[in-house]
Amino acid sequence: MISERMKNLHPYVPGEQPKDRVYIKLNANENPYPPAPEVIKATGAFVKKNPMKLALYPDPDSLSLRASIADMLNKTGGVLCRASVSGKKCEPAQEDKIPFVVTPDMIYAGNGSDEVLSFVFYAFFDSANRLVLPEFTYSFYPVYAGFYNIPTDVIPLNADWTLDTAEMLSRAKANGSGIIFANPNAPTGRGLTRDEVRAMIKSADSDKVFVVDEAYCDFGGESCIPLLSEFRNLVIVRTFSKSLCSAGMRLGYIVANPELVNTVTTVKNSLNHFPVDAVAQAAGKAACENPWYYAECARKVACERDDFIRFLSENGWNVIPSQTNFVFAQKPGMGGEEVYQRIKQEGILVRHFSTKGIEDYVRITIGTKKQMNELKRVIGRLQSV
Ligand code: PMP
Repeated sequence: MISERMKNLHPYVPGEQPKDRVYIKLNANENPYPPAPEVIKATGAFVKKNPMKLALYPDPDSLSLRASIADMLNKTGGVLCRASVSGKKCEPAQEDKIPFVVTPDMIYAGNGSDEVLSFVFYAFFDSANRLVLPEFTYSFYPVYAGFYNIPTDVIPLNADWTLDTAEMLSRAKANGSGIIFANPNAPTGRGLTRDEVRAMIKSADSDKVFVVDEAYCDFGGESCIPLLSEFRNLVIVRTFSKSLCSAGMRLGYIVANPELVNTVTTVKNSLNHFPVDAVAQAAGKAACENPWYYAECARKVACERDDFIRFLSENGWNVIPSQTNFVFAQKPGMGGEEVYQRIKQEGILVRHFSTKGIEDYVRITIGTKKQMNELKRVIGRLQSV
């Protein structure tokens, strides 16, 4: 009754979404701020003014949304927390300026970056070569590998939680395979510089696709978008769920050369012709047209993160440096599961992974100042027993 393929399925477990009580939710790396007021307005107006747009299929290729995404990247350089804002205008920081114009044909838009990643796995990796990925990274990658029957080669991190780029490269060469990782990485929060990624892609096989997942880049990483003019095999995956305050909207995208965008579009057209619904297209477009708002949210989150890292260090925790909207930290003398449970009892959810090697750590999403003050109060009272 059940297909053989099902044996390879080990579903991803997302951060819990409890209904029993109202928690301060710092467990899924969502943004604590709502979308820009313009998005709320545009979404309401879209439904009111164009009810027939809900009766008809949306644009299957999200053309207008893709043009707005390209425009936003050109305006911000792909690292919102460093973009300079004046009034409602946004300029990329000098170090983030993209040395070419990102065009809409370099963008693929999908139903959240999880779906986009799934199409990327289908399009570019196959069962003949062991895909290289870091040991601790986004835990959906091995799930997709299982789903599509792609063998993996999992490379341990360095002792300081950075990626072992030399080992990743040498294994990818030996396997004749592609590489995927998140930059900055999750759940560690550490990132590679653009120069480090450039050096990696230079020595990787140019006929294998190199995927960089920039879900968290806007909070202080270095985007690899500027490298797209140098490498035709680079695919960058990004999301509206974190820095664009829209996890509920389900929007993700790829930035890559148009040939690879077309390949992913072929996968899309073979699985789900209309992955981005009409309301999400309108909301996403309005978000991209107001990057100044999200730049300010990202800056607030990054400041709060740095303040929280100081607090944890002063309280004796081990904290990994973070370029993201979360921190990965360990309280000496107390297991990660206990830390998670004790914080949960106080009405705050953080994320604990029981995976061996990171079981002593918790991943804490950065919330508003008020939420972080409450968390600090709870953490200050945590005593080992
Ligand atoms: N990539 C990484 C590294 C993530 O942590 C997440 C969020 N869980 C995603 C992609 C997926 O985000 P979404 O599907 O909401 O776009």
